[in-house]
Amino acid sequence: MKISIVGAGPSGLYLSILIKHRCPHWDIKIVEQNAADSTFGFGVVLAEAGLSRLRAADAPTHDALVEKMIFTTHQIITTRETPISIRRPNAGGGAIARIDLLQILQKEATDAGVQIEFGVRVQDMADLDAAGLSDADVIVGADGINSSLRTACESQFGTTRESLTNHFAWFGVGKAFPTAALVFREHRGGAFIAHYYPYSESNSTFVAECDDATWQTFGMAAMTAEQRQQLFEEVFAPELDGHALISNNSTWRQFPVIRNARWAAGKVVLIGDAETSAHFSIGSGTRIAMDDAIALADALVNDGDDAAVTAVERLARFAASRGPEKLKLIAASEKSYRWYESIGEWMKRYTPYEFIYAFMTRTGRIDEGRLAAAYPELMQQIKLAQAQRAHAASADVEAGSTGQIA
Ligand SMILES: Cc1cc2nc3c(=O)[nH]c(=O)nc-3n(C[C@H](O)[C@H](O)[C@H](O)COP(=O)(O)OP(=O)(O)OC[C@H]3O[C@@H](n4cnc5c(N)ncnc54)[C@H](O)[C@@H]3O)c2cc1C
Repeated sequence: MKISIVGAGPSGLYLSILIKHRCPHWDIKIVEQNAADSTFGFGVVLAEAGLSRLRAADAPTHDALVEKMIFTTHQIITTRETPISIRRPNAGGGAIARIDLLQILQKEATDAGVQIEFGVRVQDMADLDAAGLSDADVIVGADGINSSLRTACESQFGTTRESLTNHFAWFGVGKAFPTAALVFREHRGGAFIAHYYPYSESNSTFVAECDDATWQTFGMAAMTAEQRQQLFEEVFAPELDGHALISNNSTWRQFPVIRNARWAAGKVVLIGDAETSAHFSIGSGTRIAMDDAIALADALVNDGDDAAVTAVERLARFAASRGPEKLKLIAASEKSYRWYESIGEWMKRYTPYEFIYAFMTRTGRIDEGRLAAAYPELMQQIKLAQAQRAHAASADVEAGSTGQIA
């Protein structure tokens, strides 16, 4: 079987490795627009559940990744200038520089015999032809959130898109924060958010975000990229402690929500962000993309060289087997970004522990029972805060009914 992959991101590279390890005689070629040593972003987190799936799918790749990862035991969430430290209930996830992740996968892929051609951008079907990729049995669009392959076959995939209203940019910081953290800060009436975590001994990811009201009030549309960066450096000066934000094509964007009614159009199939964009607030886009690769590799290789099972049938199996599980995560992602879209309101409405409760339960994947089991001390504090709020509310009602409030 011949397989062409557009995009040497985590999903495309991982797919090629998994297939080559099981079917070394299959012909697999990847084209990537960037050079081998360049990428966007900084570090990414891979959650524990994702890591165990990677271990089960391909232990040597998993071990090479884990060797480069930084693990943290706590996450600190700050709202109303009150930091609350949350100990992770299990081993938690690890963070890794995106470039390290890619270079490990590149090495595994080339060692296995995958051909990777860098500096080749495939814009449409004619480019696929020119790159010698169009005669493959399966063509995989692993080309990320702005997928050209998806755009070229949009009506067959049934693509829909929506743009969220919050604004964000992905920066780095030349310091390793001691732990992962989220800071929700009200500053001169604006709602500012920093998501940061260390991904190496000396560097951290820092995602800067604000709601649209803040963007408008501060006139951020008219600012230069440097001015926006300076504004965030000022707002998060206590955390940055003199360190500047580092840009790596860190453009300000509103998150595009991409969905596809169908994952395959003939022999062309989408995986990872090209198929569905998972919001960064659940920190799982890479893991979802790599899980797609695992499911697609299974669907393609399970019938080996049996010519009676066509590529199109294998792709249909992929969508059927992977779809339900992926939809659950995408539903969680959707609840999470909808919650963030109203962040200004939550920051005003909730006391710190109430905020933590609302934050931790925002996706619906964790309810009060699970929260109490995983974080008993935190839940005690949340209960106390809720009781205090209820007590204050009933005292207000009482005072109102006895006419004490003029
Ligand atoms: C701010 C931010 C923070 C994030 N943090 C995390 C996190 O902590 N944990 C996590 O799991 N995920 C995180 N993500 C999500 C994660 O980056 C993506 O979900 C993941 O990279 C998707 O992998 P992919 O292989 O599908 O696509 P990509 O990683 O986007 O890879 C696509 C590849 O295709 C190439 N390409 C694109 N177009 C073409 C073309 N036309 N021709 C040739 N090549 C092309 C690109 O150069 C790229 O190398 C974050 C995302 C953002 C925006």
